[in-house]
Amino acid sequence: MILKDGAACLRNLIHLFRPASSSLTSKGVYEGTKAYRTEDGRILLFRPDLNASRMKIGAERMCMPSPSVDQFVDAVKQIALANKRWVPPPGKGTLYIRPLLIGSGPVLGLGPAPEYTFLAYASPVGNYFKEGSAPLNLYIEEEFVRAAPGGAGGVKAMSNYAPVLKALIRAKSRGFSDVLYLDSVNRKNVEEVSSCNIFVVKGNVISTPATNGTILEGITRRSVIEIARDYGYQVEERVIPVDELINADQVFCTGTAVVVAPVGSITYQNKRVEFKTGSRSVYQELYSTLVGIQTGVIEDKKGWTVEV
Ligand code: PMP
Repeated sequence: MILKDGAACLRNLIHLFRPASSSLTSKGVYEGTKAYRTEDGRILLFRPDLNASRMKIGAERMCMPSPSVDQFVDAVKQIALANKRWVPPPGKGTLYIRPLLIGSGPVLGLGPAPEYTFLAYASPVGNYFKEGSAPLNLYIEEEFVRAAPGGAGGVKAMSNYAPVLKALIRAKSRGFSDVLYLDSVNRKNVEEVSSCNIFVVKGNVISTPATNGTILEGITRRSVIEIARDYGYQVEERVIPVDELINADQVFCTGTAVVVAPVGSITYQNKRVEFKTGSRSVYQELYSTLVGIQTGVIEDKKGWTVEV
């Protein structure tokens, strides 16, 4: 189902279910992608095939069928087209598109969902954080964990966001921008932030936690790694002990919603560590290139964008 107005999505969602034949189960995965307007008025999507593949992998993990990559990309194109007038001009925001895959069917107990509902809704968005483009102040969570080995943390399952909600709200009420989670086994290695991946810069080396099943492999993460390597940085995907943050030159986050966002400070065990930010930072170079490709300012030599 394609909705023309993001604000109407909740009302319309109610009509998607068929109570007579379907009982909603606990299974669901979703995606987040964006439509970008170029200076000459074209609308571009960024690597929607990767969102499609990620949804497929997630659906498999949730034991439910999923749309094909082509069906997914076509749906995203359709919703972008139907909402074309809501795609803000360059520099003023983007149209966020959220495809959802919800397992359903006449199953009361715990079992694979024999049917699914695939829908997408869209809304214009500006900056994800209320800080705008100002550096983020992250809080390292010690009580709650986001994902455990063997769980579903590596896919974009709806259930993954349940454990982080309370931690996030608590951190925000204390003035932090977001929460940085540690691994659930040793509680000493950096994993990711509630809705984005994290990178640590030291000299010419940019490191990010390896995707080991508990971290979502971000599409922005993957793209930024490639851009950074093109610029000659050494990029390492590996285990990053939390203590390593103390000596980092810079830290930044990546995600569809957050784009590439600088981290100004991280608070851990009541100690606050500050990082360099500013226009000459590594994140700025990566941000400009990524956004340049997404908005058609920089030639897309990699074939990452799809015009709708
Ligand atoms: N980690 C988590 C937990 C997320 O929710 C997201 C947002 N999808 C990301 C990382 C970043 O992924 P992407 O770059 O594909 O948006």
